[in-house]
Amino acid sequence: MMRQGRHFLQIPGPSPVPDRVLRAMDMPVIDHRSPEFGELGRTVLEGSRTIFQTAGSVIIFPSSGTGAWEAAIVNTLSPGDKVLMVETGHFATLWRQMAGRWGIEVDFMPGDWRRGVDPAAVEQRLTEDKAHQIKAVMVVHNETSTGATSRVGEVRAAIDHAGHPALLMVDTISSLGSVDYRHDEWKVDVSVSCSQKGFMLPPGLGFNAISDKARAAAKVNLMPRSYWDWEEMLKPNANGFFPYTPATNLLYGLREAIAMLLEEGLDKVFARHQRLAAATRTAVEHWGLEVLCQEPRDYSPVLTAVLMPPGHDADAFRKVVLDNFNMSLGSGLSKVAGKVFRIGHLGECNDLTLLAALTGVEMGLSVAGVPHRAGGVDAAMKFLEQRTASNAGAHLKVVGS
Ligand code: PLP
Repeated sequence: MMRQGRHFLQIPGPSPVPDRVLRAMDMPVIDHRSPEFGELGRTVLEGSRTIFQTAGSVIIFPSSGTGAWEAAIVNTLSPGDKVLMVETGHFATLWRQMAGRWGIEVDFMPGDWRRGVDPAAVEQRLTEDKAHQIKAVMVVHNETSTGATSRVGEVRAAIDHAGHPALLMVDTISSLGSVDYRHDEWKVDVSVSCSQKGFMLPPGLGFNAISDKARAAAKVNLMPRSYWDWEEMLKPNANGFFPYTPATNLLYGLREAIAMLLEEGLDKVFARHQRLAAATRTAVEHWGLEVLCQEPRDYSPVLTAVLMPPGHDADAFRKVVLDNFNMSLGSGLSKVAGKVFRIGHLGECNDLTLLAALTGVEMGLSVAGVPHRAGGVDAAMKFLEQRTASNAGAHLKVVGS
């Protein structure tokens, strides 16, 4: 099918890559043992620390997020080790399955996919574990399948209240660079992330930010590993180099993306995501549709998952939107397949991008014959208008003229 204009990639990752990042990657591949590369390596490793809000080590693998998940497991855990995980949604379930394949015994606290982690439940489980058999608490910060963001600072406090020594490992794959995330302040031991969401890069980089405690655990952990071994990475990383061929051009992109995030200012980036998410929910509520996340404190700044009315298939609706308006919306995954669609509002996204995306959704609802109340886009527009920085100034000008 012929599709005119720019494709609207409104899925919750991969997110659209800004032109500035695309141009920064349009470079000749250089010798990864050259002084020029060492400079690039040092810059991106340092910049990544700023984004994770850590003074500690960040490791960058040429991998997807799944690879970085595996790196967190094989460096710190051994077959037979017990861990505590929470069923926040599809991605927590996949990470759990991976841990199981490595012979880890997972205590998987069941969840309804409509909220983030309950810190009180984590505290209770840890308090019950008097023998300290649980080696790690592993949670997904932003559950991309449901649009619920867990309060990691409160999970940290729960571990501390229980006086439990478990490592805290957090999947920040769809939150880093979009949602406030503090690796050091929250005493996270391993933060796992990747390039294609808040970093606004193409897929292909996986990240582990690691604490001294995690590194010490890795040094005595006998789990066989090679490609993912942190120590193998950290030695050459000290001078900006990698033990094997790095994804050089993605690192050029990473340098630019970090510069963009810091130019805007992390606080402003986080506030922008909150604002766009709130505008999206305003539209959804106006349409009379239901947001999947039921806990307002956990509403995701990155994406909004919307429940389809009974009798209407989310994938048929997404097809109508793609075919008619050249826009990709996120599908429902596993348990919620066909029942929800997801609107991504992360990374390179501003008021007008969001309003265009919401327009595509509203027109799609009409074309697909999905019952809704028209005017959601208008409601989102009003929401954004009232919260523009220059709104108060414009009012004063009228009064004074
Ligand atoms: N964890 C979360 C929260 C995700 O959203 C994703 C992918 O969307 C993954 C893990 C897996 O990452 P990847 O597809 O890059 O391997």
